[in-house]
Amino acid sequence: MPEGDTVFRTARRLDATLTGHALTKSDFRVPRWATLDLTGRVVDSVCSRGKHLLIRVAELTIHSHLMMDGHWDVYAPGERWRTPGYKVRCVLTNDSFEAVGVELGLLHVLPTRQEHQVTGHLGPDPLGHAWDPEEAQRRMLRAPEVPVGLAVLDQRNLTGVGNIYRAEVLFICKIHPKTPVGAVPDLARLIERCFLLLHANKDRTRRKTTPTELHESYWVYQRTGRPCFLCGTPIQQFSLGPPETAQPRIAYYCPTCQPAPPEVGSVTARRHGSAT
Ligand SMILES: [Zn+2]
Repeated sequence: MPEGDTVFRTARRLDATLTGHALTKSDFRVPRWATLDLTGRVVDSVCSRGKHLLIRVAELTIHSHLMMDGHWDVYAPGERWRTPGYKVRCVLTNDSFEAVGVELGLLHVLPTRQEHQVTGHLGPDPLGHAWDPEEAQRRMLRAPEVPVGLAVLDQRNLTGVGNIYRAEVLFICKIHPKTPVGAVPDLARLIERCFLLLHANKDRTRRKTTPTELHESYWVYQRTGRPCFLCGTPIQQFSLGPPETAQPRIAYYCPTCQPAPPEVGSVTARRHGSAT
């Protein structure tokens, strides 16, 4: 699943491509919006809110979520697409560019004044102007029994952290993913690390959470069985995702650098699950 920095970069690129320009064509390839025609309307802005992408056009907002495999490509008019047409869900064209939304997990159009209906549940966004780490901490501590590996993924606590940053930030802070939120020694530091990692990568095309001198990009993410860069212990993995999630979310950790809390297994996910 794309992380917040990916959606941030996508929004920035679409903003440069679309904002201030009138659409010469719009093509919504989902049944509900198939007849919507925004031709002639000027795009007012494009922004991200966590993993949600908001394209504002004349008092309407095109709301999309990349989910697992979605992305937006930008082409010159008439340029051959790199993905087959059946995967395309939305095409927005102006005089200079064609923005193509591919395999969007969610595509919805609503009045801009009702945006809060789709983003109002989200916690503070480390890449947003109104970032509020104290509020993120307060939200996480509302359920102190929840494993921190689930709490950082819960977009209602803070928004933009996905599976990669979960693995990396917990390793950097030396916290086992199953540690209950209330037992994390320095939750403020963990939240600050989320902010720093997302910002460090928001301008990079290749995400990296390790120091420059380390060739590999990640400390533990997808490094199962390979030696920890700090202690040599083989990295381990287990499934740790919200119960309602169809695809398992794999948690990666070093059992030496991130020792298990005393009573792992006694903690449970928040009953109403995790929001995207
Ligand atoms: Zn280690």
